[in-house]
Amino acid sequence: MFEYRFTGKHYHTLDYYLKTKYQNKVCKIPLNASFTCPNRDGTKGVGGCIFCSNQGSGDFAGNPKDDLDKQYQEIKTIMSKKWPNSKYIIYFQAFSNTYGSIDKLKQTFEPFINKENVIGLSIATRCDCINEEIVSYLKKLQTHFKEFWVELGLQSAKTSTMKLLNLKYTFNDFKNAVLLLNKASINVVVHIIDGLPYENELDQINTIKKISKLPIQGIKIHILNVLGNTKLGMMYQNEHFKILDEDEFVNLVVKQLTYLKDDVIIHRIGADSNPLDLIAPLWVRKKISILDKIDLKMANDDIYQGDNY
Ligand code: SF4
Repeated sequence: MFEYRFTGKHYHTLDYYLKTKYQNKVCKIPLNASFTCPNRDGTKGVGGCIFCSNQGSGDFAGNPKDDLDKQYQEIKTIMSKKWPNSKYIIYFQAFSNTYGSIDKLKQTFEPFINKENVIGLSIATRCDCINEEIVSYLKKLQTHFKEFWVELGLQSAKTSTMKLLNLKYTFNDFKNAVLLLNKASINVVVHIIDGLPYENELDQINTIKKISKLPIQGIKIHILNVLGNTKLGMMYQNEHFKILDEDEFVNLVVKQLTYLKDDVIIHRIGADSNPLDLIAPLWVRKKISILDKIDLKMANDDIYQGDNY
């Protein structure tokens, strides 16, 4: 019997996890700590992943011209109007947030220790920006927080797709980072993208099957957003590769959820991007209706997360 749910969900949502654990609204505050990325500064590459926006896939994070405290206060003020008693998880979203010296990591993360109503950190990074020294620091850091997550982009486990996307890491690199974090009891959230160019359903199910063999605790299942100011945008204009439609995405996600262990937390389904930059698919803006369709399909077909795990 699937136990991680309320209000008709057949999968383990982050909302369910946080509400049952804290009996309180918990909001994420996305910040931009002005890191860069080895796939942009020349260490691994200069162009970056072909889908990456100028903001390092952190389009909704705070303004990097402001210091972190100012970003935090401004976003918190807006959120507290809607949810006055909320607790907060600080989300270091843009670029690769462990790509720097231990001193830089300390200056970035430690001001949030013991900050009123801050219960956690969520740190997005690349698998090749995780090593023994960083994990040892993160292990100490996490003792100061109730929630602590490291978010790792994988996108796809298919080698040819990883090359096409210009990720400049391999599935093995990703796996090694997951195992290193797991050894230190640090929770991992994996990011994947559905609807990548020239992938079929089998490829996308295989990615989930490979991930589900690893000790991960959370996942974000994004839908590909083709943005106008990216290499992917140019590729789309030239090659017109197939884009998933809404029903194809819904059916795919439902299948993918069945291959995930039932306690893996689904942090997100879908994706947000700047609507002014979005070329395709335009249906991704209907976030609520997509989630409703997923709920409806799982309910109608009596499908639960983990059914095929
Ligand atoms: S790893 Fe992240 S920040 Fe770096 S290029 Fe890729 S998407 Fe952009």
